[in-house]
Amino acid sequence: METKQFKAESKRLLDMMINSIYTHKEIFLREVISNASDAIDKLYFKSLTDTSIGMSKDDFKIDIVPDKEAGTLTISDNGIGMNDEDLENCLGTIANSGSLAFKSDNELGEDVDIIGQFGVGFYSTFMVAKEVTVITKPFGSDKAYKWQSNGVDGYTIEDCEKETTGTDVILTLKDDTDDEKYSRYLDQYQLQTLVRKYSDYIRFPIKMDVEHTHYPDEEGAEPEVHVENEIINSMTPIWKKNKNELDDEQYNNFYTEKFMDYMPPLTHIHSKNEGTATYDALLYIPSHAPFDYYSKDYEKGLQLYSSGVMIMEKCADLLPDYFSFVKGLVDSEDLSLNISREMLQHDRQLKIIAKNIERSIKNELTKMLKNDREKYEKFYDEFGLQFKFGIYQSYGSAKDTLEDLLMFSSSFDNGKKVTLAEYVDRMKEDQDCIYYACGETRERIEMLPVFEKIKDKGYEVLYFTQDVDEFAIKVMMNYKEKQFKSISDTDLNLDTEEEKEETKKTEEENKDMFEFMTKALEGKVKNVKLSTKLKSYPVCLSSDGQVTIEMEKVLNSMPQNEGNQVKAEKCLELNASHPVFEKLKTLFDTDKDKLTDYTKLLYSQALLIEGLSIENPVEFANLVCDLMV
Ligand code: ADP
Repeated sequence: METKQFKAESKRLLDMMINSIYTHKEIFLREVISNASDAIDKLYFKSLTDTSIGMSKDDFKIDIVPDKEAGTLTISDNGIGMNDEDLENCLGTIANSGSLAFKSDNELGEDVDIIGQFGVGFYSTFMVAKEVTVITKPFGSDKAYKWQSNGVDGYTIEDCEKETTGTDVILTLKDDTDDEKYSRYLDQYQLQTLVRKYSDYIRFPIKMDVEHTHYPDEEGAEPEVHVENEIINSMTPIWKKNKNELDDEQYNNFYTEKFMDYMPPLTHIHSKNEGTATYDALLYIPSHAPFDYYSKDYEKGLQLYSSGVMIMEKCADLLPDYFSFVKGLVDSEDLSLNISREMLQHDRQLKIIAKNIERSIKNELTKMLKNDREKYEKFYDEFGLQFKFGIYQSYGSAKDTLEDLLMFSSSFDNGKKVTLAEYVDRMKEDQDCIYYACGETRERIEMLPVFEKIKDKGYEVLYFTQDVDEFAIKVMMNYKEKQFKSISDTDLNLDTEEEKEETKKTEEENKDMFEFMTKALEGKVKNVKLSTKLKSYPVCLSSDGQVTIEMEKVLNSMPQNEGNQVKAEKCLELNASHPVFEKLKTLFDTDKDKLTDYTKLLYSQALLIEGLSIENPVEFANLVCDLMV
């Protein structure tokens, strides 16, 4: 018989499993049981539409048989089974190759339950077994197969005999060592405890022979032992239970297992609803974004059950994009078992459920923000970006739902995050808009020339450090009737009436010079003008119109916009109280060529400060050299 080798990746994982120092080895049992349950689900689902199968829900079961003499633990199911190809594909390789790349970064972290995700479940048996045998007969076939492996030397597949459809997984446990008593997995109390801990909600009966000892009343009488084949799980899905029967650990265990996360969730929402739609929902907010969350590969959705039977693995219609991070399930008796995906999309009940779910997620997050700020900020660091995309992509229709969940760092308290409500609450009396500044980092924003004056005025500035920030608030237009205003806008309106008068006067006096300078920068800026928002810097750039300088940067960095460059309308603003301004005035009267050079220099400086590239670096360098010599 030919011994086949595991695929390279699987081999690495197997090595890790076999030599695992992982403390939760016991989870192998929940992995095997959950596979058995999935296999039964598949056949049960078939049987609902195909009466020729002749099985009803009560016929399905999972058996656990510990054999102390042989040192084996057998888990059997009468589910769909596997053919030789399935065995090869499912147990010879690991489904998701991304999993290993991920694992090698993390290795087996101490508290981190990474086993059980990415379809490595079956391999966890090698943490406790020196040999694993799978005997299986697929539904609709009269052939049966035996897969066998000790993990190290590959595996074999051969034909064998098996009477009934389904699968037996036989684990020959490792020998006990000083540190690890593998034989405890043959102990009925251990097994009962493990099943209750991890697999209690499995909808099909998990049966095992349980010994009961009866101590007769008479003295000296021998205790009587009798064995009964019992169901050892409660079979009630966790979401069908009452909230007060459940503790956080049970909710979290269910989450990590079901949704293959290695970290417990931040929080859960368990709701039971009757009325226009009858359903139970169990939703989780994960504590971290999956590695592919912000990529196209990520698929949102909730599991959908119809009266306890799963009808869809990921029902996308139940979640709006901005809540796509939510994991969980919905079980409703209003939905028909045989509903197709297309029909589901138009299902009225489903729409009502989706609306309710959206509302409860929002309420939960609002509550978290109010009662547990630290937790909310942790959440926001992971998923907040999605809210901004949400607002932007919805063209503002998601504004009402999301605006109070947004956070930005701000100048108020060393870059700490604030909500818009907090910002508006403490706005200065004479302040009429919400100021923001764009930049790669907080440090860069604080270095912007215009930042100084706003800060002196005592106005708080929101820091927009993510590309999408400004686009999102442009779509929102305002918050509680307060307009958003970029501190790079040309008209910031910071001055008093007197100061405005003064500016107007200086502008009049130097009108010709500004015109000359504007001409020197033709095609580059809309105009050169006096600034009202600079304190110690000589120049800055501001934008006039819908496209801001930051948006220009972002839009032009997108691959689809290549060759179709967007330009913000820029103004070069000069600070009249800076010594450079006096110099410019003198040059205007004495040396126009030099004024042209200086204008170009100032413009290049302003570009650099804004984080834009200068159009002609060589000219800039030459001009600087001229100044030096
Ligand atoms: P996962 O369950 O996450 O897909 P596993 O490594 O646990 O990953 O199992 C791999 C695959 O092997 C399963 O997806 C399933 O197709 C198949 N399988 C495992 N156990 C059984 C079983 N008892 N009956 C039928 N198929 C099974």
